[in-house]
Formats: sequence, C-alpha cells, structure tokens
Amino acid sequence: MESNEIRQAFLDFFRSKGHEIVPSAPMVVKGDPTLMFTNAGMNQFKDIFLGNAPRKYPRAADTQKCLRVSGKHNDLEEVGHDTYHHTMFEMLGNWSYGDYFKREAIEWAWELLTEVYKLPAERMYATVFEGSEEDGVPFDSEAYDVWARFLPADHIIRGNKHDNFWEMGETGPCGPCSEIHFDLRDEAEIAARPGREMVNTGHPQVIEIWNLVFMQFNRKANGTLEPLPAKNVDTGMGFERLCMIMQGKKSNYDTDVFQPTIGRLAALSGKSYGADARCDVAMRVVADHLRAIAFSIADGQLPSNVKAGYVIRRILRRAVRYGYTYLGFTEPFICKLVAGLVAQMGDQFPELRAQQTLIERVIEEEESSFLRTLATGITLLDGVIAEVKKQGGTKISGHDAFVLYDTYGFPIDLTELIAREQDVEVDLSAFETELQAQKERSRNAAAVATDDWQELFPLAQSEFVGYDTLTAPVRIARYRRV
Ligand code: ATP
Ligand code: MG
Ligand code: MG
Ligand code: MG
Repeated sequence: MESNEIRQAFLDFFRSKGHEIVPSAPMVVKGDPTLMFTNAGMNQFKDIFLGNAPRKYPRAADTQKCLRVSGKHNDLEEVGHDTYHHTMFEMLGNWSYGDYFKREAIEWAWELLTEVYKLPAERMYATVFEGSEEDGVPFDSEAYDVWARFLPADHIIRGNKHDNFWEMGETGPCGPCSEIHFDLRDEAEIAARPGREMVNTGHPQVIEIWNLVFMQFNRKANGTLEPLPAKNVDTGMGFERLCMIMQGKKSNYDTDVFQPTIGRLAALSGKSYGADARCDVAMRVVADHLRAIAFSIADGQLPSNVKAGYVIRRILRRAVRYGYTYLGFTEPFICKLVAGLVAQMGDQFPELRAQQTLIERVIEEEESSFLRTLATGITLLDGVIAEVKKQGGTKISGHDAFVLYDTYGFPIDLTELIAREQDVEVDLSAFETELQAQKERSRNAAAVATDDWQELFPLAQSEFVGYDTLTAPVRIARYRRV
C-alpha cells in the first residue's frame, strides 16, 4: 500500500464507524500562550475536553500535522540520528466525546490493524495501566479484558504512570492509556529476546505505533482525581511509523513518505543514500526538516528571530548545516526539494500547494544568507584549528569560538561539531564567560540580543586588545579577560 492509501484507509475505516472526518488543524498555533505548535491530534479539541466548548459531533477522526520541537515534546535532537522520530509528522487520530469508550476503541484499533492493514498479531504488544495507589486508580482491567480477547497474556504488558497515564497538564482531564507496540526485528533476534522485554526500551525496531488514551478523570487543583461525567477517547497513531510497518521497512525514511525526497537529494548531491553513515544522517535530517519548514510556512509562520519563527529558523539552519557539512552543498538546495514535496502531499494538504511559491522563495533566501555565514565561519574555524594544532594544543579557546559566534554568526554547536571531527575540543566555559560579558555589554547599550542556537551562562568582563589575522581577508578580534 502506498502511504496516501494507508492514510485514506484509516479515514475510511473510522468514517465507516460513524466518525466525522475533520481537517487537520494548523501546525502553528496562534493565540494559545501554552503552546507554539500542535504536538498532538487532541490539541484542537482541548476546549471540548475541558468542557469549555460544546462538541460538534460525538465522534471524529483525522490526520493531524504535528511538530515536536519545543516544550514538553521535543524530539529535535533525535531526528536524523534515529529512524522513527520526526520533527513534523502526521498523527492519525480518532475521538469519542462522551460517546464510545475503551471497548470500542480497542476493538476498532485491532480490527483496523489486523483486518484492514493485515498486520501480524504475533508481532504486536499492548500496554495497559498497572494502576496507582497514590491516585487511588486501580489496574485497568477493563482495557486488559478487551485486549485479552485478541492477544495472549505475554503480549499484554502492564505499564506505570510514566508510560501509561496521560495528563493534559497539572490539572484537567487525564486517564489511563493503552499503547500498541510493534516488533519489526528478524526472527532470530526475536527468538533471542522476546518482544515483551523490548517494549519501551528505545529499540528502533520495537516501536510504539498507537496510543489510546481513555480520559476518565479530572485532576483537581488539590491533586486529587474525580471521575469525569463524560468519558472521552483520544487516540494518536504515528502515520510514518505505520507506513514503515506496512511497507515492510525498518526505517521510516525507507518508505515512500521520505524516499522521493531522499532520491532528489542524492541526485542533487551526487551521493547515494546508504553508502556512508554520516551522509545518511544528513539526508534524513534534510528530508525531515524540509517538511517541518514547508508546512510551517504554509501555515503562515515565516522564519524570524523570535518565538515560533525562531524555532523554524533553527530547524532550517540545522538542515542547511547538515547539507553543507556532509552533503557538500554550498548553494541553496532545500528550496529545490519543495516542488516534489508539494506533488506528493499537496492533495491531502492543499495549503502546501497554495503556498508553494512563497515556501520556495522564503527557504531560498534563508538558505543563501546562512550559507554565506557558514562559508565565512568554516574558513575561519579551519584556520583556528590549524593554529591550535601547530601550537601542539588540543583546545580552541573560548575566545575564538566566541568571535566566530558573535562577529560571524557562526553557531557554537557547529564549532563544537567541526572541532570534534578534527579531534579538538572547545573551551566552552570560557566561551560562556565571553558570551555573558557580551550580553552584559549589550544590556548596557540597550541592544537587542541576537543570539542564535544556545542559551548561556555566567559573567565576566573582557577588554578589546587588537586583531589577529587568521585567514585573509578576515580578522578575528582579540580580547583579554579583565
Ligand atoms: P515515543 O515514545 O516513540 O517518543 P510518544 O509516547 O512520545 O512516542 P505519543 O505522545 O503517545 O508519542 O504520540 C502518539 C503517537 O505518535 C506515538 O505512538 C507515535 O506513533 C507517534 N509519534 C510520537 N512522536 C513522534 C515523532 N517525533 N515522530 C513520529 N511519530 C511520532
Ligand atoms: Mg516521545
Ligand atoms: Mg512513548
Ligand atoms: Mg505514547
């Protein structure tokens, strides 16, 4: 099945079970001080679950564009290095607003996975809430009993509050959840260690696919739970993970969701996917981040220096720097991947097609300007590293790292990355000291802080003592700590 058919089959299935199929809410959230980006399917229904808005229908289903790069859910650093966490992903979901509850939710999940998608039952595991004495919530035998009709006892795992109790926040709707995990490992690996021991251990091929949340309590301000008058169901399934399983792959990036982009990247860079581990990470990062950036711009969020725009700029720059460092791109390249993405996803998400020109233009401008920064910075940094090695040292001074950062806008994490690759360290604490001093100066001058990439630390003073010429024609300013 192609990914577009897999998505459609989900929606058709829940439509056949009486669900209203609703559009995805924007990925960029406006007007909610607690949330910058939609990070779960239920976000757009929050007010209904809180009782602040009337329900429009008793059951709904959709695919929701989610972005997990900030706040409670931040998967950014995993992305590209692992094979199943993305920045932007689609969460397939079905909801009951005071209508059906655990039995139907589990029965339908099972029916969809085994009868429509025809996934093998013996590779699936379900987790159920073990209960919490502290909260006076018993073991979720109701969910367990439904699962026991489908799965043998050793495929049903009891999970603790951390994994199997969902809460919206400090207060408000909450309840036990039941997750479905899938074991993709080879037979020999399964024989060596059964899947039930691997669930929730972070193994890249024993992965969580679907979370079924049963909202049945309200957490009060004093911390106690009271039963909700209307019980709700909120489910979320990772679409790209489902595609991986359905298409018999071991990585989300090997599915038709990402392969077309990776193919284009390979053609543009002249490198092939699967030949070199670092290039592969870079291709995954770019293929992933392209979606996050394109969908954000389509939703009206342009890269900028503040808040959500700053998050988007950082994602874009992360992609540029991986492409620059490992794929050899010195000219804008991400903008060239937009048309393919639009062709692939524009039917399901028309906002992407409508904004294609804007997306391409904005990405190209951002890329050009950041590539210039990188080129200058890398030339300088190479000179610094050569000098350190010539002197028999192993550490780049905090000062040099700071000048690169402050004067040339070169990200400190990139300095560290490049230094590490050449077996050189960076004196980070001295860097932080310089940075604080700089912040202090800026504060005094009432300047706007323009720091990119990193939040920073303690305080010192420094004094300008002249320039060093590292690599002509650019000079690095020398400061002395006072
Ligand atoms: P994980 O434990 O794998 O990080 P999660 O428990 O954080 O997932 P949920 O909040 O339960 O995820 O979200 C519901 C579903 O969304 C998950 O079961 C998973 O299939 C999918 N999902 C979650 N985070 C991501 C992500 N960063 N990229 C792709 N899919 C994701
Ligand atoms: Mg997670
Ligand atoms: Mg999880
Ligand atoms: Mg989960």
